[in-house]
Amino acid sequence: MALRSIAALARERARRIESRVVSEHRLRADICHAARVLYERGHNAPADGNVSARLGRRYLLCTPTGVHKGELSSDAIVKLRLADGLSIDEKRPSSEIKMHLGIYRARADVGAIVHAHSPHAVGLTVSGQSMAEPVVPEAILGLGGIPTVPYASPTTADVAAAVLPYALRFNAFILERHGTVTLGDDVAMALSRLEVVEHTAHITAVALATGGAPPIDATEAAHLRKMAEDAGLSRPLDGGAPIRLSAAEESLAEALAERVLARLLAPGRS
Ligand SMILES: [Zn+2]
Repeated sequence: MALRSIAALARERARRIESRVVSEHRLRADICHAARVLYERGHNAPADGNVSARLGRRYLLCTPTGVHKGELSSDAIVKLRLADGLSIDEKRPSSEIKMHLGIYRARADVGAIVHAHSPHAVGLTVSGQSMAEPVVPEAILGLGGIPTVPYASPTTADVAAAVLPYALRFNAFILERHGTVTLGDDVAMALSRLEVVEHTAHITAVALATGGAPPIDATEAAHLRKMAEDAGLSRPLDGGAPIRLSAAEESLAEALAERVLARLLAPGRS
């Protein structure tokens, strides 16, 4: 390869590393913000729930286990390798990390996952009330539907296995007697979807308590689903194609990029 081409490749890689540093700082702040919102809005008891986000192609950031989610600091966020789920900073990730890893590996388009023990959504599963056929149009338009995943013991690999068929088709679902899971391009989108689920569950619970919660008329529901499908919100998802480089290409590009980045960040550069 010509020297000029190698230099261009290295400069491009350096820019990506530079933006990754900024992205990691931003992502850590986004995760802390989402965890605090979930606690303050009553979705979680202090140590409940978890939030993660994809960091480039090889890493994840995730909330730590057993920590008060309303008081998280950026440096408490755990960094893991996507390939094997190992923490690279010796912190302990969320006990539900297997579920997060399974979803990221199956859906290359997912950039963030939010999980909370939202009381109305979980309460409906305890009483056996499904939200797969929502009572308000927003849940169909925004999410396509909100299925319930059959019960599996929290923190086990059974949760990850039970979730996968739903995660391949939906961006929001409820784990029976456990909690809500939402997926998004980024943390803000996943958080927003989780709030739509809980708001819909709240409306459904009020309707049930005041006379009944019949689902939207079947013809109208089909119309709304078509609208959601046309907007790309509810069609089955293919997960996207992963990007692959050979190990030799990866290490050469990374090594060159690190050297160019050192030059770019050297004192005296504007
Ligand atoms: Zn949970």
